[in-house]
Amino acid sequence: MLGKDRILTIFGTGQVTPEVILEAAKMGRTPCYVYDGAIIARKCQEILAMPNAFGIEPRYAMKANSNATILREIVKHGFGIDASSLNEARRARMAGIDPHKIMLTTQEVPLGSDRVALEELIRLGMKYNVCSVRQLELIADFAAETNTRLCMRVHPGVGSGESASRNTGDQYSCFGVHLSDIDEALAFAKSKGLIFDAVHVHIGSGGDPVKWRENIDRELGFVREYFPDAEKVSFGGGLKEARMPDEVAADLRELGQYAKQRIEEFYAETGRKLIMEVEPGTYIVANSGYIITEIIDLKRTGPDGFEFLVLNGGMEVNTRPLLYGSRHPLYVVSQKGDLLSAESELGHLHPEDDLRVVVGRCCESGDSQSLDSDGNIIPRLLAAPNFGDFVVIGGAGAYCASMSPHNYNSQIQVAEILVNEGGKLQLIRKPQTLEQIVQNEIIAEQASACTAKGCGCTAAAAC
Ligand SMILES: *Cc1c(COP(=O)(O)O)cnc(C)c1O
Repeated sequence: MLGKDRILTIFGTGQVTPEVILEAAKMGRTPCYVYDGAIIARKCQEILAMPNAFGIEPRYAMKANSNATILREIVKHGFGIDASSLNEARRARMAGIDPHKIMLTTQEVPLGSDRVALEELIRLGMKYNVCSVRQLELIADFAAETNTRLCMRVHPGVGSGESASRNTGDQYSCFGVHLSDIDEALAFAKSKGLIFDAVHVHIGSGGDPVKWRENIDRELGFVREYFPDAEKVSFGGGLKEARMPDEVAADLRELGQYAKQRIEEFYAETGRKLIMEVEPGTYIVANSGYIITEIIDLKRTGPDGFEFLVLNGGMEVNTRPLLYGSRHPLYVVSQKGDLLSAESELGHLHPEDDLRVVVGRCCESGDSQSLDSDGNIIPRLLAAPNFGDFVVIGGAGAYCASMSPHNYNSQIQVAEILVNEGGKLQLIRKPQTLEQIVQNEIIAEQASACTAKGCGCTAAAAC
């Protein structure tokens, strides 16, 4: 047993103790998401403190976690918002975010009423990051008439990602205007009198520092060669965060130092002072988030098998292990509020006795919080729990609530709770109801008569 006053964290400090887990479980029922506002604040400050040459403007990639309160917290700390869809931009607006703080970077091609909404948002100050030649062609006349300056997302031809599915820069992904189309796109833009005052490259969510540095070099090359009016250069997101004890987070000082040096050299050579933009999603929220689940069953799979902890939340609250083989720290907290085991302190456990398997309650063999990238279950060292004890999944602030298939097995989308910087718990999303899951369903009328010839009974098909 590790006691009651421990903070459930691997890196740095935080506010989520076993006591907070009990309080949150009572407030939100289980499973529920809990976010530590102090960690979000610290992460924002770390980004803002990155070394830079002529200023840094961070935007939070809201697809990582789109809850209105989370957006407002992050904007309060001096960030803008990167929206990945028109609906995300609308949602940020609904959360009260000033459109001037929002940039839209999307694969969507808004037409019809969406097109009207896009133009309205741009009029209100939202930045549009052109991501394809077609997007450019469609927005050109409007941008020319309204003197709107645009950003262009350039596809650099190479990328970086933790896994192939998160690499956004190679020939198997199509985010941005590919370098091979740049000349044509810019000639067209010139013919319309359009100006690009910002350039953007996001190479993926891997956070490989070597790739990050290469990307900076490459992107500054594009700015020099193609974008004489650019005042801002965005290096995208993908700053790596470490969730597990053996993972290493991006070194922001080092990355910032490199960018600063390059931007200063660019200034020395061109006389142009570029503002650096970064767009972290994961880095800001990943380690702020916890999912509180309760142990509802304990099973064994025979003498050579494992002990299974069945949790009341799994792939429907965090689908990352199933999707990417991502690893998350696990904590066991007793109903009385004792921390029984923590990912960073497993020394009191023994592989012969304490290797256990965590699964969710979905009817799906891959519903586990501990899988490798091929989907095989990986047993984990965890303290022996009881029914009703809690398994807390850490590192769950990014791409969990926003990405998981909540309603699979007709489970509800669960509550979200913020521990604010004063340590107070606030419900920031109510749990969904079953009625809300089915409210848009329409029960079709059944054919009223039997289709067998001459029969007149009311069976729907032939009786
Ligand atoms: C997803 C995304 C990000 C954030 O990526 P993280 O890995 O969560 O930091 C940044 N920029 C764009 C354009 C994105 O699509």
